[in-house]
Amino acid sequence: MPDRIDKLGRIVIPKRIRISCDLPIGAELEFVPAPESGGVLVRKKEKHTCAFCHAGEQLTEIDDGIFLCRNCIRKHVFPKSCKKTAEAKSFGRFLCN
Ligand SMILES: [Zn+2]
Repeated sequence: MPDRIDKLGRIVIPKRIRISCDLPIGAELEFVPAPESGGVLVRKKEKHTCAFCHAGEQLTEIDDGIFLCRNCIRKHVFPKSCKKTAEAKSFGRFLCN
């Protein structure tokens, strides 16, 4: 029987696929358009954590794939004591050192 999207927009991932792809019940997924294959890619959603303290909450992506939590941004990214000029900050990386 072909798989179908039901009237609520849901799909079922066959058990053999879930097992072979290590997708337990409750796994967070994301859907990515894959026009080159005429379909949709379903993959595990990456769990992002703070690059400094590994917290998983209140994250901001400060560069491609690099996340910092609110506390570490407050502590490490250009604190009030930072003497860099605004121009230097715009060309520098994220840290005041
Ligand atoms: Zn942090």
